[in-house]
Amino acid sequence: MDPDVFRRFGHEVVEWVAEYLRDVERYHVLSPLRPGDVRRKIPPAPPGRGEPMDAILADFKEVILPGITHWNHPRFFAYFPANNSGPSILAELLCAGLGVNAMLWQSSPAATELEEAVMDWLRQMLGLPDGFRGAIQDTASTATLCALLCARERLTGFQVNSSGLGGAAAGSPLRVYASREAHSSVEKGVRIAGVGSENLVLVSVDGAYAMDPRDLEARVGEDLRRGFRPCCVVATVGTTSSTALDPLRPIGEIARRHGLWLHVDAALAGSAAILPEMRWILDGVELADSFVFNPHKWLFTNFDCSAFFCRHPETVTATFSVLPEYLKTDLDRQVTNFRDWGIQLGRRFRALKLWFVLRYYGLDGLQARLRTHLSLAREFKGWVEESQDFELMAPVPLNTVCFRFNPWKDAAAGPDEEELDRMNKALLDRVNGTGRIFITHTRLGGRFCLRLCVGQTQTQRRHVQEAWDVIEEAGRSGC
Ligand code: PLP
Repeated sequence: MDPDVFRRFGHEVVEWVAEYLRDVERYHVLSPLRPGDVRRKIPPAPPGRGEPMDAILADFKEVILPGITHWNHPRFFAYFPANNSGPSILAELLCAGLGVNAMLWQSSPAATELEEAVMDWLRQMLGLPDGFRGAIQDTASTATLCALLCARERLTGFQVNSSGLGGAAAGSPLRVYASREAHSSVEKGVRIAGVGSENLVLVSVDGAYAMDPRDLEARVGEDLRRGFRPCCVVATVGTTSSTALDPLRPIGEIARRHGLWLHVDAALAGSAAILPEMRWILDGVELADSFVFNPHKWLFTNFDCSAFFCRHPETVTATFSVLPEYLKTDLDRQVTNFRDWGIQLGRRFRALKLWFVLRYYGLDGLQARLRTHLSLAREFKGWVEESQDFELMAPVPLNTVCFRFNPWKDAAAGPDEEELDRMNKALLDRVNGTGRIFITHTRLGGRFCLRLCVGQTQTQRRHVQEAWDVIEEAGRSGC
């Protein structure tokens, strides 16, 4: 592309993004399209000849935009957020312009050294122990897989790496422990690491859906008696369904006693630890071997950006380092080569957007935004508690509220649980069908729950109020 053409369309695209961010509220939050609607508009064969940029941008608006669910809409309350911000978007643009591959120090010294620096800033912001060193991964799923592989290799003396699962390390199964509420990425990681889903031991949870350490202790003890090899425990700080907080200290003490690797999955909730008043959620984190949280969820940094920390950098590099001649450099002993910190060789220069975000907002700016989200979620929780028609389904320690429609909650008789599940599913569809808000669901204790998470950059009180209005209205119209 000619530089002048790039400049012209570059300006047009930046203009478009600026307007989009300003006017995003005008869109339906959840794309209303049906399966196949987008695909039908895309030619089945690739273009033989180049097309003008005007036509491509016109199709972006015509074909793609209607099929977008607006994650950065202030009334997006679904899943966990993937929030973004101006400084992060600008850094992404610069990254795309530079087109850097941050695989080695030599392949861009600034990318490596900035990554080391911003990861250490994050470590300090969250109050993680001094000894933790970090690398940016694409997602928490990848970081958890890395932790599981490190745990496997530490336990087997790096023999699975060298001779495979059926080789010198073969023997009784390795066991991994996580609560019943742990994210599906733990099971996926266990499968990929060759441990096997059957060797993922699901530990019971208490009434607040947090891991019960006594059950963990009992299950590890039972496994040892049966001759299994306990390998790793994954504790979740902020479970996906309800942001339940597994107690790290007792879990860490059990892990230490039995030589288990403790990995902490704080994908969403880790961000909250930048608030001094929320630090308690990480009490005991000094007992962890590794830790992950996603600035791409709740720290205004564009997807993808997942911060993976480990207190044993040498175990990480011993697990992942494979050094062919063509990747060797004279400086290998003096520098960090992040290719040895994970699965992929080529790596995006993600540190730049974190640097922009952390500098632009500063710690106090980030803290103020998270405090707003937490207080809005608390306010929403209060509305649910006061309502005659809805009830709370789990504690609300952070920014996520699980609740359901149940006007019969205080009545002597009402619909059975299956009928309540069905009514709440129908209510969810009605609410999301309005296009005004987007919330999702989960199951807790087997029951279908509505789930609202406050975490978008532009979300204000009026948006949360509107969500409650839409939900109440849908409840009334369903009666
Ligand atoms: N862990 C928890 C607790 C999560 O809630 C999620 C996603 O929401 C993940 C892991 C997976 O995150 P990612 O999409 O970064 O792999």
